[in-house]
Amino acid sequence: MATIGVESFGDDALRKLYLDLVRKDDWDDDCELCRMPTLLHSDTTGKRIHGACTRRTELTEADILNEWSLFRKKMKPIRNWYTDDMEKKQTKSDILEGLQSMTDAIIKGTKERPNKLVKPAKVPSWCKGMKLQAYKKSIEVWMENNKDMPEAAKYQDIIESLKMNKDIEGLAKYIGEHVVGKLDTIEKQTVKELIELLDRKYGRTRLEELEELMEDWIKFNFNEHESEEEYLLAQEKLIARQ
Ligand SMILES: [Zn+2]
Repeated sequence: MATIGVESFGDDALRKLYLDLVRKDDWDDDCELCRMPTLLHSDTTGKRIHGACTRRTELTEADILNEWSLFRKKMKPIRNWYTDDMEKKQTKSDILEGLQSMTDAIIKGTKERPNKLVKPAKVPSWCKGMKLQAYKKSIEVWMENNKDMPEAAKYQDIIESLKMNKDIEGLAKYIGEHVVGKLDTIEKQTVKELIELLDRKYGRTRLEELEELMEDWIKFNFNEHESEEEYLLAQEKLIARQ
């Protein structure tokens, strides 16, 4: 069989031959018999011909050099294309691998910590007609049931719910305009501080307080005091409450 010159191989055929190579480093191996690149032991469509080389060497030294020079020139862009393509594929597979391990981690986390993903019970709302005392009690129960929840998250849930409240007159406004401004640092943003501010506005009304105070005065004046000293002391205590 006569030697087929490099010129006869199109880019597609060369690319196919190169892709089919198991070890890409072998692309420029030369045949000891015909002295041509072994990669070209194929037909011109890129189909490899296996078996011992049966080509007679009809080429001169100069011909061989020319063939090799042309071969290298034609192979260069193919090898570059292959390297670039591999890098792109590598990047893609790295990304896919990253996504896969993220997915695995999420699934694994879900299995290992099912409790953390259970949505905590919704914070109780302060309904129409409900006394602050009752609301405080329901918050207490909710806190007890959500012990694992961080304080900041509890605070946030409660304050968000209060901000949206439409049942208690002036509440949303009080929270938005007063409470939020008052509890302006992380340290102050606790359920306790929040409840204290609610107490200030929605605890006993001034009238209720006065009624209670009057009752105490009446009781006080009817009570017999053993000494003047005791009377004064009791009076002092009462005054301090006003
Ligand atoms: Zn050969």
